[in-house]
Amino acid sequence: MFTKILIANRGEIACRVAATARRMGIRTVAVYSEADAGAKHVAVCDEAVLIGPAAAKDSYLRGSKIIEVAKATGAQAIHPGYGFLSENAEFADAVQAAGLVFIGPPASSMRAMGSKSAAKQLMESANVPLVPGYHGDEQDPSFLRQQADRIGYPVLLKASAGGGGKGMRVVERSEDFEAALASCKREAISSFGDDKVLVEKYLIRPRHIEIQVFADSLGGCVYLHERDCSVQRRHQKVLEEAPAPGMPADRRAAMGEAAVNAARAVGYVGAGTVEFIANQDGSFYFMEMNTRLQVEHPVTEMITGTDLVEWQLRVAFGEPLPKKQHELAIHGHAIEARVYAENPEKGFLPSIGTLRHMDVPLAVAFELGADSVNPAAVRVDSGVREGDAISPFYDPMIAKLIVWGADRTQALARMSQALSEFRIVGLATNIAFLKRLVEGEAFSSADLDTGLIERNQSSLFPPAAPAPLGALALAALALTNHETVHGAANDADPWSQARGWRMNGDYRRTLSFTDEFGDYRIGLTYRNSGWEIDLDKQRQRIELVSQNSAELALRLGETALHGCVRRDGDAFHVFTGGRHHTLTYNDPMAHAGEIEAAGGRLTAPMPGKVVAVLAQSGKDVKKGEPLVIMEAMKMEHTISAPSDGLVEEVLYEVGDQVADGAPLLAFKAA
Ligand code: ADP
Ligand code: ADP
Ligand code: MG
Repeated sequence: MFTKILIANRGEIACRVAATARRMGIRTVAVYSEADAGAKHVAVCDEAVLIGPAAAKDSYLRGSKIIEVAKATGAQAIHPGYGFLSENAEFADAVQAAGLVFIGPPASSMRAMGSKSAAKQLMESANVPLVPGYHGDEQDPSFLRQQADRIGYPVLLKASAGGGGKGMRVVERSEDFEAALASCKREAISSFGDDKVLVEKYLIRPRHIEIQVFADSLGGCVYLHERDCSVQRRHQKVLEEAPAPGMPADRRAAMGEAAVNAARAVGYVGAGTVEFIANQDGSFYFMEMNTRLQVEHPVTEMITGTDLVEWQLRVAFGEPLPKKQHELAIHGHAIEARVYAENPEKGFLPSIGTLRHMDVPLAVAFELGADSVNPAAVRVDSGVREGDAISPFYDPMIAKLIVWGADRTQALARMSQALSEFRIVGLATNIAFLKRLVEGEAFSSADLDTGLIERNQSSLFPPAAPAPLGALALAALALTNHETVHGAANDADPWSQARGWRMNGDYRRTLSFTDEFGDYRIGLTYRNSGWEIDLDKQRQRIELVSQNSAELALRLGETALHGCVRRDGDAFHVFTGGRHHTLTYNDPMAHAGEIEAAGGRLTAPMPGKVVAVLAQSGKDVKKGEPLVIMEAMKMEHTISAPSDGLVEEVLYEVGDQVADGAPLLAFKAA
């Protein structure tokens, strides 16, 4: 086996390849751009070499530089991951010419499948079923329109060289054909440098079903069954699962054999995916072949108990496929959700920023390469850690969340549970959207087709709403909790020492939070050994049921409620009921000075004890300088100068008890 490989990629896939290499005792060399110096993939590899500035064209797409690094570090092979150079035939050729092994198919197979039209011509001769259409060389607009008229509308125009859901146009009527063709060609030339298009029948409510194939260099070729990737936005995958719901065994075998024929027709070696578009009645047609490992390969690994990266390494080294077709059974059901830094409510626009908090669902170790599938599997493949940034330079994927269940129902339940444990603060994500998607009627009943998201707009995008009382109760309790824990480091749990909380009989305080809908003034009262919360005219008793670092479980009146609160400065991020509410705490301490300064006085924002007086009467102070420190609710609060000015008089001494709203000092702004 290889002893050292170079991983020509970044993020999640680079980390994933490194994990398998480590398990197999293979050393790894990472390459990275200036933007990725502190990235996870650099940390998990044995060596790392800087290859250029952030822009992909100056780093991860610099084939010659990467080959140079491989030679200099003594790597014997290059794993390209996906994206970047993975489907670049010139790169594969150059790797080979440098005396290194390209961990992927021969350049000739990539070339054969690189053009969608040429691939279709090839598939036609290999008897693989095709969508009715025209994929020849003639590109005259009136000829193409005749072809569209013959096929029957709606038709789909596709850039031959296209990928990633780009360069496609649906045409509904003959009259619209020419304008759509011109616009498709414009996008094709600008995105792919080639304006050749093909025309095919646009299927109504189709499913995207793809077959994982694997071939070795000794003539072996198998299929590892199908994945259903019908849940898409803008022709890009969002959820993927294996096996495809409702797939009869005979059709699975027929599609599997068609895919193996397709791979054999181009002399394929390594991991590849043959994508089909299927009608609801089950008839299926070849769409394209992706000549690389696919983002969604983990669902296949889970149901077949394989490690496809290990297979890639063995095949690239010249070994035979680890398993024969009859040894590849399906165990259970797996679902993958792509967690993206994006804003589903704003047309899935990517979001950039720092992952200030990242709670990842507890991954129940999934033994890659094990013979049997771990029935408790939850797997998270990610290339980022808390504190890392999602930059504008690369793909905004944060993680892939993959779950396994004995059947689809169990996998669905695990997916919704795991999604509620996935909490990110710092940028917009699609997590809440994924949860609605997975729990929604259409996906849970497997009513699948590529229009699922479009068709369910109203339930998938509920209008934003003000924070419910439950979310406010969680924020309020998290706040009082935080104060207690930070005020008395040793008695961590305030709930076990309610006595200390009671102060004088009923203790009441008012908290103020703000979100985009306005201000919430919440009353919190400690009464009869428990808390009550009120907002406007609602009043409910809160009972803490359980609590750990991740979750608070409450009873709010008669309702059971649970959620999690992550604090980021004054922002309280409340995760509950599948929603993420961001509430800004209006800290009376922080603002008391500013408000009161106008009247010349700095007042106590709540009842408490003066523990330090730093100001002196008659002295000038600078804005922000600490003047008095008070203790209340076991927490210290500092009252600072609201602006540059003069302390005219200090009204209390250390040890004095002061009432809520009492003036602490007379202050004159400069
Ligand atoms: P799939 O059909 O498996 O979804 P895509 O063609 O959409 O594959 O792309 C594969 C993956 O490659 C993307 O999801 C992304 O993670 C990665 N990728 C593609 N282009 C880039 C890029 N410019 N920068 C970083 N990663 C990329
Ligand atoms: P890409 O290279 O961008 O992945 P594909 O040819 O694989 O392009 O198509 C991407 C998606 O577009 C498919 O998954 C499917 O949702 C949709 N699509 C492609 N061809 C058709 C068709 N003939 N009818 C309906 N939808 C299609
Ligand atoms: Mg595709």
